[in-house]
Amino acid sequence: MLKTAMHYSHELLREIVTTGDHVVDATMGNGNDTLFLAQLVGVSGKVDAFDIQKSALLATQEKLARHPEQVAVNLHLAGHENAATYLQGKKIKAAIFNLGYLPKSDKQIITLPETTKKALTALLEHLLPQGRIILVCYYGHPGGKAELDALKSYCNDLPQERYNVLAYQFINQKNNPPLLLCIEAK
Ligand code: SAM
Repeated sequence: MLKTAMHYSHELLREIVTTGDHVVDATMGNGNDTLFLAQLVGVSGKVDAFDIQKSALLATQEKLARHPEQVAVNLHLAGHENAATYLQGKKIKAAIFNLGYLPKSDKQIITLPETTKKALTALLEHLLPQGRIILVCYYGHPGGKAELDALKSYCNDLPQERYNVLAYQFINQKNNPPLLLCIEAK
């Protein structure tokens, strides 16, 4: 069966991320992607995870505590647009964004086109060759369509000499099925 955007995002990460890699979770939320990445990179790797909500950081901390072997995670209560400050020139193998709002939380706190694009530009500078940045775009909420359009346009403009960009979406589903975008550095 074809994979959902969320499952396919993990497959795209699993294909390239290995033990010892440095990776980024740009939208920590409840920490599902943070834990997944931590398990891929192992104790010798590193995950930098970002969110602007304290509740997200606490939920992720709690999730990681149930997996004490996952020690290589740095949780930042900071916007992903500031990622470069924390990466300090280090190269990354992958990053993932899950856009929109945190389910069962304040629906007013959403990712925004300008900060998402700023974060992408910064992270692309740190991306290793064959590294991938994945965006899972949810856009059914107010403001979501504007962010989706801005990111499609951003990705359309990336030079094909430097990047491959994939779009993955179920096009016959109701209720705004998420769009997955994957940018791969050449
Ligand atoms: N990946 C998460 C998970 O596994 O549970 C779900 C992420 S949720 C769809 C989007 C998250 O992005 C929210 O927790 C929200 O607080 C966060 N967010 C919004 N603006 C942000 C920003 N500028 N930088 C980092 N995170 C942000």
